[in-house]
Amino acid sequence: MGNKKVILVGAGLGSLASALRLSYAGYQVEILEKQTTAGGRLNILQKDGFTFDVGPSFFSMSYEFVELFESIGEPIPFELNELNPLYTVNIAGSDRVFQIYKDLDKLANEFKGLENDFETKVRAYLKGAKEIFHDTEYKVVKKNFDSIVGFIASMATVPMKHLPKLFRTFWQELERHFDSEEVKIIFSLVAFFLGATPFNTPSVYNLLNYTELEHDGYWNVKGGMYKIVEGILPLLEKKGVKIHYNTEVKSVNYNKTKMESVVDQNGKSWTADLFIINADAAWFRGHFLNRKKFTEEKLDALEWTLAPFTIYLGVKGTIPGIHHHNYFLGDNFRDYADTIFRSSVAPKKPYYYVNVASKSNPNCAPENCENLFILCPVPDMRVKPNWDDAEELANEIIDDLSKRVGFDIQNNILTKTVYTPIEWKNMFNLYKGSGLGLAHGLNQIGAFRPSNKDEELSNLYYVGASTTPGTGLPIVVIGSKLIQERILKDHPNT
Ligand SMILES: Cc1cc2nc3c(=O)[nH]c(=O)nc-3n(C[C@H](O)[C@H](O)[C@H](O)COP(=O)(O)OP(=O)(O)OC[C@H]3O[C@@H](n4cnc5c(N)ncnc54)[C@H](O)[C@@H]3O)c2cc1C
Repeated sequence: MGNKKVILVGAGLGSLASALRLSYAGYQVEILEKQTTAGGRLNILQKDGFTFDVGPSFFSMSYEFVELFESIGEPIPFELNELNPLYTVNIAGSDRVFQIYKDLDKLANEFKGLENDFETKVRAYLKGAKEIFHDTEYKVVKKNFDSIVGFIASMATVPMKHLPKLFRTFWQELERHFDSEEVKIIFSLVAFFLGATPFNTPSVYNLLNYTELEHDGYWNVKGGMYKIVEGILPLLEKKGVKIHYNTEVKSVNYNKTKMESVVDQNGKSWTADLFIINADAAWFRGHFLNRKKFTEEKLDALEWTLAPFTIYLGVKGTIPGIHHHNYFLGDNFRDYADTIFRSSVAPKKPYYYVNVASKSNPNCAPENCENLFILCPVPDMRVKPNWDDAEELANEIIDDLSKRVGFDIQNNILTKTVYTPIEWKNMFNLYKGSGLGLAHGLNQIGAFRPSNKDEELSNLYYVGASTTPGTGLPIVVIGSKLIQERILKDHPNT
């Protein structure tokens, strides 16, 4: 067996999954990571006796993780934990807390009095969502594309009955099935907290509600999400994969057809047969390769997912009125969703998500304490570059949450960390602080998304949120499979 050397730039999940697949296939793999830890957005913050997941707190399509470890012949090195209920939702102005269950009988009970005949309607809605999921999974998501023509040809094999969905929005599809504003808002959250509003997201993404409510549900990991990374690292070590931390690629050398080396902040040059970039695939092409299609002006004109404003709180006492995964919404969903992308000021009466890992994982907080992770999607730095008002927004959220759960959080804070889009951008080189990278409008998926194979350099590949198939933990794991397929074909290790 040959011993082709691969350098991965960045140690996010897409990179770690690729490193697993390629090292187990016999490639010699090294990873360069600017941070002091692996995982990228899937990271860990330990402070004052509390442990926080920095970014992702749950995921769908858990079977993609199962596939990853099966493909390398290893048992899955962490314990998956299915969420039940999936999450709770509170809408401002009401004490009602909706518990969202996969069990549709129980879910129907939650919407009693709001939506007549909910169960029949939701089954019809999910039937359509299921069909589009299974009709596109292998034709659009789990497939490499070498040209727009090839992509369109593959799309053309998706049954015609789905065509009208291309011309409707996510919200319009919900309107076709449900009357209750609450049901429509709650079923939109999957789009909203993925960084897009349901009023301009194509209706095909209603398939996400099928993945959530019927197909595989939501999962997290026993002991905290970072166990995923901690489970992968020893396997990489076993295969001799070296990760060089505090090593940021600052420039690259290439000729007409090949990438020759990447150069770190100390001027050290790293050579390899193949390079895989886990930094943002669109930004990298503009910033390092000076590609005309990816200048700052062009990148700014693309659609990006919302930026995260995140708060990590260690709180004295146990908070009774809150569950593991909770959404707290205002009472002006459409106005809020319409302005949030365009506003240069922090949102008033913000909508936010709260994860209380200590509810199910007591090791992450000292006794009789809670650890709270709060995520508020905010405009990215194209529209709101200044975050001098971060403290104000954090306090507004904490005060609002205190009122809604009936617990004085502000006066019981033992530790507090706030990351604005500026920190998110600086930590992981996220373009203008966009939390999930490029959005997934129909003009930014498949062959229209920055490809996972470079257009000009034959030994350069990309994996992660802004290349194909897209963003989210299971999706970047699929991405690692797609580049493995390409590399085994283009550069077999013989
Ligand atoms: C707040 C938040 C919450 C989220 N919640 C969820 C969730 O609940 N469920 C879910 O499925 N997804 C969630 N996501 C999305 C998910 O985190 C991402 O889609 C996924 O982690 C992206 O992985 P990636 O492979 O693109 O790598 P990234 O996480 O982007 O990692 C890239 C790595 O490359 C490094 N790097 C960048 N440039 C260089 C350079 N020049 N030199 C060296 N290293 C470099 C960075 O430091 C980073 O470590 C969330 C994201 C955020 C921000």
